[in-house]
Amino acid sequence: CFMLSEIEDATRKFEKKIGSGGFGVVYYGKLTDGREIAVKVLTNDSYQGKREFSNEVTLLSRIHHRNLVQFLGYCQEDGRNMLIYEFMHNGTLKEHLYGPLTHEWSFNWIKRLEIAEDAARGIEYLHTGCVPAIIHRDLKSSNILLDNNLKAKVSDFGLSKSQADGASHVSSVVRGTVGYLDPEYYISQQLTDRSDVYSFGVILLELISGREAISNESFGANCRNIVQWARLHIESGDIQGIIDPNLRDDYDIQSIWKIAEKALMCVQANGHMRP
Ligand code: ADP
Repeated sequence: CFMLSEIEDATRKFEKKIGSGGFGVVYYGKLTDGREIAVKVLTNDSYQGKREFSNEVTLLSRIHHRNLVQFLGYCQEDGRNMLIYEFMHNGTLKEHLYGPLTHEWSFNWIKRLEIAEDAARGIEYLHTGCVPAIIHRDLKSSNILLDNNLKAKVSDFGLSKSQADGASHVSSVVRGTVGYLDPEYYISQQLTDRSDVYSFGVILLELISGREAISNESFGANCRNIVQWARLHIESGDIQGIIDPNLRDDYDIQSIWKIAEKALMCVQANGHMRP
């Protein structure tokens, strides 16, 4: 637990905003020992109450994995809830695929493959290494962060819900992001770890195709956006047709083919897709 004054000093009174998301605003900071941190100041309606916050924080503090953004502590003062994480120097996968952080290596096939593997390991740990298992519920390329060694780590699992005794959650509020959201979960509101597998499949398709999964269109139209489009190409054997034109020539068509098939298997994991 951190004191608000420590956090204020670390962030120089919340001067450097690095992003904002569904749960609040993220600031850059530095602890007295020199460690760089990201402080997420949650909006007041993110949590129903103090108990829910402390339950989540207890859960978070037990999670350690090299492919998960490390939670370092929390601060609950002045009517605000704050979560403190290790700082990730190289932004999000989304920013590397679609700008503004694109570099030479963003188009390197081997690097993209490593990112996919790193993310998969992080997700696997949430599902099988944590007790109770954790379902992320909002996997997307903007929740895959890169550290200063360009190692990928999954973030934003802090506000995931744990899977009670292996049973599926029935939640009245579907959480997730259009484009990555598992249609079966959307329809049935039955949450299982397979919904994360669906979202991961969409991330794989983004890594192969360089095509963004997000659209402002309706849910059904958006499903057609990347998943249906990739399926059409892959089923007709036209793998060249989905390869990101920005990818350098160093890719290996056989491995892209295997990963594309795996991505489609992931998105088919739940049996059906709405047209
Ligand atoms: P969302 O709710 O949209 O997933 P977050 O609230 O988790 O987003 O984060 C918003 C933005 O802040 C991210 O897109 C990222 O750019 C930045 N960010 C979040 N966590 C970190 C971190 N640990 N290190 C560096 N940047 C971060």
